[in-house]
Amino acid sequence: MAKAITVPTNKKLGQLLRSEGVDFVWLQFSDIEGQIKQITIPARQWTEVVDHGQWFDGSSIQGFARTVENDMYLMPDPSTFALIPWESGTCTARVICDVLLPNGDPFPGDPRYVLKRQLERARGMGFEYNIAPELEFFLFRRHEDGEVLPLQPLDQAGYFDISIDISRSIRRKIVESLAEMGVVINAFHHEVAEGQNELDMRYGPGLQLADSTVTARIAAKAVAHQHGLFCSFLPKPMTGKSGSGMHVHQSLLDPVTGRNLMYDDGHPYRLSQTALHFIAGQLEHAKAMACVVAPLVNSYKRLVSGFEAPVKICWGRTNRGALIRVPRTTRDRSISTRCELRSPDPSANPYLAFAVMLAAGLDGIEKEMQPPNPLEEDLFQVTDRRHGYESLPDSLGAAIEYLRDNHVLADALGPHLHDTYVEAKTQEWIAFRTHVSTWELNQYLATY
Ligand code: GLU
Ligand code: MG
Repeated sequence: MAKAITVPTNKKLGQLLRSEGVDFVWLQFSDIEGQIKQITIPARQWTEVVDHGQWFDGSSIQGFARTVENDMYLMPDPSTFALIPWESGTCTARVICDVLLPNGDPFPGDPRYVLKRQLERARGMGFEYNIAPELEFFLFRRHEDGEVLPLQPLDQAGYFDISIDISRSIRRKIVESLAEMGVVINAFHHEVAEGQNELDMRYGPGLQLADSTVTARIAAKAVAHQHGLFCSFLPKPMTGKSGSGMHVHQSLLDPVTGRNLMYDDGHPYRLSQTALHFIAGQLEHAKAMACVVAPLVNSYKRLVSGFEAPVKICWGRTNRGALIRVPRTTRDRSISTRCELRSPDPSANPYLAFAVMLAAGLDGIEKEMQPPNPLEEDLFQVTDRRHGYESLPDSLGAAIEYLRDNHVLADALGPHLHDTYVEAKTQEWIAFRTHVSTWELNQYLATY
């Protein structure tokens, strides 16, 4: 397995490209939806790019278009350097870039910048935001003609199964590829539905984990493709089966000492006041956050009861139906105290998702919000409103309205990205709402 390489500066990276015999470098950045875009340069162009940036026309990138400024440039972040393990024939590296305007300012529509700004705000308040996402996804077979539809899950196995789980070797290859790229997976297993898998990422700082999440999605798709399979991060690919979530474990550390500021031994769940305020903030903004952490029309087909996905806006320790879960930890592991947000799904743009999650939590801390009592009853059985807990939005259309009106999250996204994002989602929602589906024809045509 290749060694993890720590790279201090872009200049040093030039030497490394030569010593590793790199032929090409993928300069990557994220569009508003979290899709990775890239420009490939021959390695000899590297110095030029570091000195002057890689210019491109942003107007054709989803969510980037502006009437006055189309020209932007990419500036590589050397800490994201990795060799691409699945690229055969040539030695290829990738580096994730920041998007800058001609005057050198960050482009306000760059999702990575939006996250950096929130992380900076957290640091200003004395917090380092540490997270660990759990990525669920499906592996499907391809038919003889290469088509993926109708969907054919790779196996018939279930949660933690080994006997009929033939995706084991693919999962292992994905994890090995990620390790070569410096992304550490702590655990991986089969999930509940047939063909469904999960990768649990190791805890780390927010920006690094956002970069790692997009990397994991690309790696999983590439490795699956190499094996003639199709990997999907769609939240609910199959009616009546479990959907795929991206639960995110979160904690706030002291940036200097590394002490976990969510921990307090005096509380029954070992949560500090800071943690309780943070949880309260995320509950408060849960509906507006949904539009970013569960961004597709399809996301809302996952957020229904009966599939271990959250519906009610509540929190608890043992409850897998709760929006926020506080996992049990061993007594002497104060560093493990954390809260797990369960509404995100793997189709979210991780940069924007982590930015709004942090902004919501910090708002709770700033305003010293208190969460309601935790709810430990099995929520999957709760079908009425007797607890008085509100529900997450039940459609993308509803979620858009909450995000449109939420000033805290609008501030976190910044006016450019908030407007562009709400507009893009509105168009998506209108397209869905006005589309006549096969379900409607099957349901109604014969009768009416
Ligand atoms: N697949 C479930 C979801 O959509 C989560 C299952 C689990 O608890 O890991 O969130
Ligand atoms: Mg899971």
